[in-house]
Amino acid sequence: MTFEQIKNDEQQYMMHTYGRFQTALVSGKGAVVKDVNDKEYIDFTSGIGVNSLGYCDEGWVKAVTEQASTLQHISNLYYSPLQTELSKKLCEITGMDKVFLCNSGAEANECAIKIARKYSFDKYGDGRRKILTLVNSFHGRTVTTLSATGQDVFHNYFFPFTGGFDYVKANDIADLKSHIDDEVCAVFIELIQGEGGVMPLSKEFVNEVSEVCKEKDILLLVDEVQTGVSRTGAVYCFQNYGIQPDVITSAKGLGGGVPIGACVCSKKLSDVMSAGTHGTTFGGNPIACAAAIEVLSRVTSNSFLEEVNKKGNYIRAKLSEMGNVREVRGMGMMIGIVTEKDNAKQVAAECVDNGLLILTAKNLIRLLPPLTITYEEIDKGLSILKKVMEA
Ligand SMILES: *Cc1c(COP(=O)(O)O)cnc(C)c1O
Repeated sequence: MTFEQIKNDEQQYMMHTYGRFQTALVSGKGAVVKDVNDKEYIDFTSGIGVNSLGYCDEGWVKAVTEQASTLQHISNLYYSPLQTELSKKLCEITGMDKVFLCNSGAEANECAIKIARKYSFDKYGDGRRKILTLVNSFHGRTVTTLSATGQDVFHNYFFPFTGGFDYVKANDIADLKSHIDDEVCAVFIELIQGEGGVMPLSKEFVNEVSEVCKEKDILLLVDEVQTGVSRTGAVYCFQNYGIQPDVITSAKGLGGGVPIGACVCSKKLSDVMSAGTHGTTFGGNPIACAAAIEVLSRVTSNSFLEEVNKKGNYIRAKLSEMGNVREVRGMGMMIGIVTEKDNAKQVAAECVDNGLLILTAKNLIRLLPPLTITYEEIDKGLSILKKVMEA
């Protein structure tokens, strides 16, 4: 198969939902991935923050293949020791109380939204159902998570959208307070807006939101789909902010490359989702759980987190000396770059030609390297980026 054949077949047989980079990837190891012509790329994307341990990490491959040859799926009508082990780990790491396992970020967020509305329904009756989200947020592609997404460009074509969402400005506590009324049951935020342009919320704003929510028994839901699993230098980003949310959602990096999502709630919400109120066929799949257990056992030690922060700082320091860089932001190894020439998309495309994969978010360059990337791989990738940025 040549790249041209693959591209033609994609045109002919697949819905045209993605603007793709001009390469077809077929194999990888660590932070290096190869295309169909055997050309190598340094990977600063991890998928989109998915391959936490890089491509085909030895321990991860062993966990997945051993589980695939032991038991690949059972229905959620039966108990699973892998589901319980993963859920226990997630509760211990987050200080939370209960987990619902699903298959993606959007699904984890759907669960969070259902918990918020049912908690309020059970306690206050019908009518207290509004959820505040932030302008420029991103929460997924289902009809309800599109509604939760605070960007007008996503609110097209698919009418009617799920009602009951309202949008407030990030880092503007007055705007948030002015939107709180008797109908609000939850505030749902990303701590670093990922798709919205790698935009961290201020500690002051987040702490004030947390206080206001506590005062009024409004639930604080944190979408950690992109920021979770040690991406930002803490296992979950809320730990960087010193808050304790009522619900967090996790997905992207959790399975290290297999689909898995988790919705994790505090003790107050433990009994909200009762038998029959929620479910999924694939959620908590044994192979996905085995992968996530391996990922969490590897990325949660203090020494690993320190290394994530060190590598993140190293990358940021090198970027700040690079031409065409106006601003570098983010936390840990979630990094956004504002370019002087406002040419992020062009830089990303030219990096592919030069053997480097990077992402964009809005008009920013976005880097989400595998957490296990070596300094040698970082240097190699950054030298390509420098060449393209300064061309
Ligand atoms: C990617 C993402 C989602 C959606 O996750 P999917 O697995 O694509 O459904 C939701 N929230 C945030 C913050 C994300 O970055």
